[in-house]
Amino acid sequence: MKKERLEYYKMILTDLKNSILEDLDSIEDQHIHHSSAKEYGDSAYPIHLADIADSLTEAELGFKLKNSEEIILAAIDAALKRIEEGTYGICQDCGARISDERLEVMPYAVRCITCKSVYEKNKTK
Ligand SMILES: [Zn+2]
Repeated sequence: MKKERLEYYKMILTDLKNSILEDLDSIEDQHIHHSSAKEYGDSAYPIHLADIADSLTEAELGFKLKNSEEIILAAIDAALKRIEEGTYGICQDCGARISDERLEVMPYAVRCITCKSVYEKNKTK
């Protein structure tokens, strides 16, 4: 892959990483911190069960969101590492070059579109 192309993907990946890091911060603020403040809040009144259920759902949602963002974050870091190592854009299963169309959509892709569909098929078995 050409150096300019690599620089371009590196920029996209870094941007993406920063926006996810910002998202993670706001998810924590909005869901996790907020809901635990609600659960152990300073209110002298007993907390209604419905409120607890609500805040649990919020916390769980926050956790799930956070989890999937963290998976993407790990994939981005791995992609940045591959750029450094010079293996970026190469399918980890068959060694073929991953198309630019695919990398534009998913710059942290580790498989070409063919291997991805095989992988997805095996995964759901
Ligand atoms: Zn492949």
